[in-house]
Amino acid sequence: MSESPKQSQDRAGPLLTEYKFQLFAPKCNPSAEHMNFLAALRDDIREVFPYLNGRLKGCQYSPDAPFLRLRHKGHVVTLRPRQAAVGKVADAEEARQVLDWVKDLINDTWARRAEITPSDRRAPSLTALQIFKLLPGTNCRQCGQQTCLAFAALLAEEEASIEQCAPLLSPEHHDRCRQLVRILLDAGYEVPEDWL
Ligand code: SF4
Repeated sequence: MSESPKQSQDRAGPLLTEYKFQLFAPKCNPSAEHMNFLAALRDDIREVFPYLNGRLKGCQYSPDAPFLRLRHKGHVVTLRPRQAAVGKVADAEEARQVLDWVKDLINDTWARRAEITPSDRRAPSLTALQIFKLLPGTNCRQCGQQTCLAFAALLAEEEASIEQCAPLLSPEHHDRCRQLVRILLDAGYEVPEDWL
């Protein structure tokens, strides 16, 4: 019989003991180079969400659902009470590496929860329009898109990287570049190190 969240709160030792995962290609694009995977978690991990949210910057947390989304090396990891979903992995080995990292993070955070202030803070999700307002707005197509708005939509979905918009680096756009990097970081998006 599975244990309740209250029982897991009272338990000493690791919160997450085991997982089983399954790789799958995106249904709408089966020939995609990257795969996604879902892992079934043996233990209910919802009690660690507020501590992860208090410990890490830029998580997206919904206490009601509940779910917590975080990013690691270009992968978006979505945690639910008994499930972890990881996007954009090349193969099973990479999937295992990401999930092992997640498992260690969960258990380390759980072990240290007495030192961590839990948080119900919700990070805002960015919209294409919020991003678009900070792009140069010239529709120059250097990023490979027809318009800045199209590029903004891809960036919001993490299908593009800020570095593809080379005009942002020109001196006249430094202010908007800094602002864009800031809102991306605050919302938990990954930004190339040399753009920080
Ligand atoms: S490279 Fe930048 S400025 Fe040019 S179209 Fe793309 S987003 Fe707009």
